[in-house]
Amino acid sequence: MENEVVSKNFIEQIIEKDLSEGHCKVVKTRFPPEPNGYLHIGHAKSILLNYGLAVKYGGQFNFRFDDTNPTKEDTEFVESIKADVKWLGADWEDRLFFASDYFEEMYEAAVELIRKGKAYVSDLSAEEIRSYRGTLTEPGKEDPYAGRSVEENLALFEGMRNGEFADGSKVLRARIDMSSSNINMRDPILYRVARMTHHNTGDQWCIYPMYDFAHPLEDAIEGITHSICTLEFEDHRPLYDWVVIETGYKNSPEESPKQIEFAKLYLTNVVTGKRYIKRLVEEGIVDGWDDPRLVSIAALKRRGFTPESIRNFVELCGVSKSNSSVDYAMLEYCIREDLKMKCPRMMAALDPVKVVIDNYPQGQVEYLEVPNNLENPELGSRKAPFSGELYIDREDFMEEPPRKYFRMFPGNEVRLMNAYFVTCESFHKDEAGNVTEIHCTYDPASKGGNSPDGRKVKGTIHWVSAAHAIPAEVRLYENIVDEERGVYNEDGSLNLNPNSRTILKNCYLEPDLAGAEAYDSFQFVRQGFFCVDAKDSRPESLVFNRIVSLKSSYKLPGK
Ligand code: ATP
Ligand code: MG
Repeated sequence: MENEVVSKNFIEQIIEKDLSEGHCKVVKTRFPPEPNGYLHIGHAKSILLNYGLAVKYGGQFNFRFDDTNPTKEDTEFVESIKADVKWLGADWEDRLFFASDYFEEMYEAAVELIRKGKAYVSDLSAEEIRSYRGTLTEPGKEDPYAGRSVEENLALFEGMRNGEFADGSKVLRARIDMSSSNINMRDPILYRVARMTHHNTGDQWCIYPMYDFAHPLEDAIEGITHSICTLEFEDHRPLYDWVVIETGYKNSPEESPKQIEFAKLYLTNVVTGKRYIKRLVEEGIVDGWDDPRLVSIAALKRRGFTPESIRNFVELCGVSKSNSSVDYAMLEYCIREDLKMKCPRMMAALDPVKVVIDNYPQGQVEYLEVPNNLENPELGSRKAPFSGELYIDREDFMEEPPRKYFRMFPGNEVRLMNAYFVTCESFHKDEAGNVTEIHCTYDPASKGGNSPDGRKVKGTIHWVSAAHAIPAEVRLYENIVDEERGVYNEDGSLNLNPNSRTILKNCYLEPDLAGAEAYDSFQFVRQGFFCVDAKDSRPESLVFNRIVSLKSSYKLPGK
């Protein structure tokens, strides 16, 4: 774990230095999502990092929608993002902001740049601007409109705002350096003309600021001190500083706001990018942004992950400067660790087969005391009905067992968990060869699961009383991409796993599970952790998602 501790400190070290040198007094961070999709596990890292730093240094955490590009944005996304940030526990108090609320201030800042001779209106097309920009090895070419006077630029920019020019016909460019070794500094575009209806400002604007201009201003306007973003923006940092300095919000790169980059969180063999998740949703490969196979926050929540497990996961990942992928198994480890003490452990037959106990008194029902969680006595116990007809899981019976199979087979004695020892006497099969019914005898003296004569059995299996069991649907999940073949094909298409979802329609559960509500989680003993599906479950027809199986070969690094 030492690595993580050290790397996490790199942002904290910057902050502590800035505090001690007086570059800032109160630490202010922000989470600035673009409302163009649902948040995913990577965003959770950014949210919890920014929020955690604000808490650690007694500062403030702002929540701001970076809504400067209306083509892809939508209020549906605004609402889902708010719900997700809240669910993760990042408290923005009364500081929810929209970048679009600053459009007027951004416009004023652009006018100021024009006045200083630091920006000009260009009539080059997007295509021309690209070809004038040069390459990594060749400098760019001067824009033929760069020589316009301040007065002319002011008038043209106002005309852009007033709708006098067609979409794409004019842009405002920063005047920096067409021969800079950093291509981002070659007179970047600050504003474009585009008639688009904005979810917040409607048709009030027909010019929109570019990200590289808008983002630093948003930070500066809110008094953000540390603007934490991902590595791909490293080359944009000089431009970030240029914008904040030239618009008069700070005097030097050392002052606030200051951009700090860290590596994105990637999960091995998991689709994280918003664009890719969107494709799976739009192509109908998954049933919405919250399909439990995805790693959007909404999907993780629906699957049964808890905010605590995600916080712990993000903590374990640490913060670093170099890109790498984290094993999905680490996320599974975190949810298992979180749920193992919290959840009641219930019995469920997911692929049920009937067991008849021939010597059990006809019509008798006993209510047996079953602890809810052996490792956590605080969860108490329940009474589970036991009778002469039960369901067990089909895989707990074999007609011809291999060596070391200690569960039920003809002639073998096993323990029914918390109940009795039973011995399998015979079984029936249908024409297709499927076992339809198993007959056993029980030892009445073994009540509670121990025999008075001290004889031992090697297998213990779970069961539910047939007459009392409640039916349910259970959904099992695997990775949505084919783990063997990797996430993407050469042509960029996704390598999908055809078995990513298995729906079990005829499961039987202990009657105590009746009344389970959306997001309630349970361990089904010997099988895994399961959560009531928030979308499809109904009181009369419960639907459960398997969050994670019980077993894992995953070991925390360094343990
Ligand atoms: P994606 O690349 O998945 O489409 P994005 O970066 O376009 O995401 P934004 O809404 O622009 O999404 O991002 C909001 C914040 O979340 C940004 O500060 C961004 O750097 C951060 N972020 C996005 N993806 C990750 C990730 N995988 N790991 C950590 N932080 C991320
Ligand atoms: Mg983005």
